[in-house]
Amino acid sequence: MNILVVNAGSSSLKYQLIDTDTDTLYAKGICERIGMDGSLIEHKQIAKGLKVKKESPMKDHADAMKLVVDHLTDPEVGCISGMDEIQAIGHRVVHGGAYFSESILMTEDVLKKIELCRDFAPLHTDAHLMGIRGCLEIMPGKPQALVFDTAFHQTMKPESYVYPLPYEYYEKYGIRRYGMHGTSHRYVSGQMAALLNKPVEDTKIVTCHIGNGSSITAVKSGKVVDTSMGFTPLAGVEMGTRCGDIDPAIIPYLMERENLSPAEINNVMNKKSGFLGVTGFSSDSRDLEDAIAAGPSDPNYERALLAYGILRNELKKYIGSYAALMNGLDAVVFTAGIGENSIMLRQMVCEDMEWMGIELDEEANKKAFRTSDSTKISKDSSKVTVYVIPTNEELVIAKDTAALVAAK
Ligand code: ADP
Repeated sequence: MNILVVNAGSSSLKYQLIDTDTDTLYAKGICERIGMDGSLIEHKQIAKGLKVKKESPMKDHADAMKLVVDHLTDPEVGCISGMDEIQAIGHRVVHGGAYFSESILMTEDVLKKIELCRDFAPLHTDAHLMGIRGCLEIMPGKPQALVFDTAFHQTMKPESYVYPLPYEYYEKYGIRRYGMHGTSHRYVSGQMAALLNKPVEDTKIVTCHIGNGSSITAVKSGKVVDTSMGFTPLAGVEMGTRCGDIDPAIIPYLMERENLSPAEINNVMNKKSGFLGVTGFSSDSRDLEDAIAAGPSDPNYERALLAYGILRNELKKYIGSYAALMNGLDAVVFTAGIGENSIMLRQMVCEDMEWMGIELDEEANKKAFRTSDSTKISKDSSKVTVYVIPTNEELVIAKDTAALVAAK
């Protein structure tokens, strides 16, 4: 089945056309600056190795969808002869609140529930709704499925998702842990479970999705027990520009001292913290690694090492605490931009973990870089298996969509 996977942001729209019978990616691309001057589309036709990038006016997401379909069906850069070769559309949706524990076909009722989650992720939710409506306008009648970043985490028990605040806030506002990156955690934990060669019911896995945004998840018997992100994607470990977990008392303290409004302190924690905040020079792990590799003579060395040291300690603590929570650990998985590519960070995290059965194979770790294959990076003698598994959220979205359409 040919599925068009759509990831709509407020001014961008990423897409992939995937054949779910053969897991083939036909085309992918991005529309940027939607609703602004200078909007452009970048489109790649995979089989022919073609790439086009051109400016084209797009006043809204419907215009962007029209342009996507034009490119997919273009005789030169396209890969299908007409819109009828797209069987359905699958959307990435960031927040499904407590309403959705699995992917679902779009209906008016479903859209109403998504609107109820708007407060939890206003920018993302508005963008997704625009993407869905854009598809409705350009491809009316085509089935649309929604795949939620929060869904996989819905198996958590209340003791993992209720915060120790007055209970009425949970009841009144839905303040609880939801977790993010669920589609990625689901994909890599599923791949890992299959590699472990034992029944899923017996598996205990910690998945580390480390990119610009990062989250760590404990997956026992194929179900999420706990995850590091919380009510919002600000929680958990240090990220590119986000602080992750800090003493909550720092927030009112800084608001008073620096005379910051709620929006301003939110901006500090989301956009000016993490690697960027600690180093003062970059949110990109590659820049940090360059500074660390350059050594103490580099002016950025110490802060880069500090920023990486903070993340290393946090990751060790999550792995250790999740092993305690699951009463054991079979495997640790690294994924996403940093998890898949940072030889240095993986080495730092897995160092001195022999006590809990993690023995890194340094040579294998060095080879796991920009690869599309799952790579084992622990020694054969390691009690806990460690893998680098490239994530593929789009494939999960396409497959869920195909399954929902087939079952209709
Ligand atoms: P997002 O959360 O935006 O999806 P990604 O998963 O794409 O983020 O991860 C982005 C991060 O991955 C950046 O910090 C980037 O520096 C890092 N990254 C990408 N390639 C490499 C690499 N070769 N070595 C180290 N870090 C890398």
